[in-house]
Amino acid sequence: MEAFPEISGSHYAAEKKRIMSLCNNRKGYCIADLARRLDASIPKVTRIVTEMMADGYLVELGKVESSGGRRASLFGLNPNVGYFAGIHVGHEGLTLAVTDFPGNVLHTVENIPFGLENTEESVHRLGARVRSSLETLKIDLSRIVAYGVDLTGRVNHQTGYSYSYFISEQKPIRTLLEEEFGRPVVLENDTRAMAWGEYVCGVAGDEGTILFLNVGWGLGMGMVLDGKLFYGKSGFSGEVGHFPLLSNNQYCRCGKIGCLETGASGLALHRLVTEKLAQGRTSILSPAYKKGDKISLDSILGAIDREDVLAIECIEEVGATLGHSLAGLINIFNPDLVIIGGRLSCTERYLLPPLRSTVNKYSLNIVNNDTHIKVSQLGRTAGAIGSSLLAKSLLLGNIE
Ligand SMILES: [Zn+2]
Repeated sequence: MEAFPEISGSHYAAEKKRIMSLCNNRKGYCIADLARRLDASIPKVTRIVTEMMADGYLVELGKVESSGGRRASLFGLNPNVGYFAGIHVGHEGLTLAVTDFPGNVLHTVENIPFGLENTEESVHRLGARVRSSLETLKIDLSRIVAYGVDLTGRVNHQTGYSYSYFISEQKPIRTLLEEEFGRPVVLENDTRAMAWGEYVCGVAGDEGTILFLNVGWGLGMGMVLDGKLFYGKSGFSGEVGHFPLLSNNQYCRCGKIGCLETGASGLALHRLVTEKLAQGRTSILSPAYKKGDKISLDSILGAIDREDVLAIECIEEVGATLGHSLAGLINIFNPDLVIIGGRLSCTERYLLPPLRSTVNKYSLNIVNNDTHIKVSQLGRTAGAIGSSLLAKSLLLGNIE
């Protein structure tokens, strides 16, 4: 399925895709600049730019500032030529983001009710939910160029298979989604999509090497190394939650014992709180626990927000455990920036101080001094925004 038919059918497909990548984020270039960057002649680049303007992809943004002589025109991407839609499929429903061609975020919609199941009917329901939200936003569906979809669990973005959904089907889930939307679809792991969203238009500035920790019910990591998303051989990199680091004798969801996730995740926070409630400790959650009500992660996060001492003690313990492992990761990667994202990042007031203190205690000072630790700026919209931006990047060949 082709996202850019005019470009892919053209003589100069590679050069045109390169110009589309260069002109990201409202950046404009004059013909001489483009010729230099493409290592091509001025007449050739003039021809290419003229064709791209005729197809609607480029527009003239203005003139180059100059002290004298004829001022050259600046060309950039036409924001109105089409849109990209990103869809984060989470346990709590869908999040949708729409970006334009230069990469501006136009819309985000959270909490669209949906539960993904292993049925084709579920893919149709997802399509219907997304179409209905886009129509509410008054986005012309025919102008969506491509879709990005991110899911939890192991995803191979090259084959389009999710190893959590449709494993036994003949067709990868990406193909089912492409049939549903009638457009190219990029499938990605949720944590990697969140990392890319923060990298391109979130809390990251000019930093090139970023570790993004998705501290949700589980624990995952997305890596941007020297400006590129890191995948590993089959796209399964970043399984930091299953780093066998702890000697807590706790069983992990993966079947092993002592994975980092058993001490540093929403799951760990839930276990610590319920263990203390079972010991008879007092908390604003105690009455519900004694009545036999289910204690959810959201209710624990709510208790932290209401300054419940027991829940705060537990999130501090999670922060210290996470900081301990982060110290090792900082020593290995020497990143510019570590971003703490995911559901637990809303507890930053209590999570971050013990995390920072443990990082300082256990990492090498010479390495740690270069690293900033920040909390996600895009929050719950990071995955959808990242997916939308990835749809364009992958189709242009910026990411292998
Ligand atoms: Zn594990």
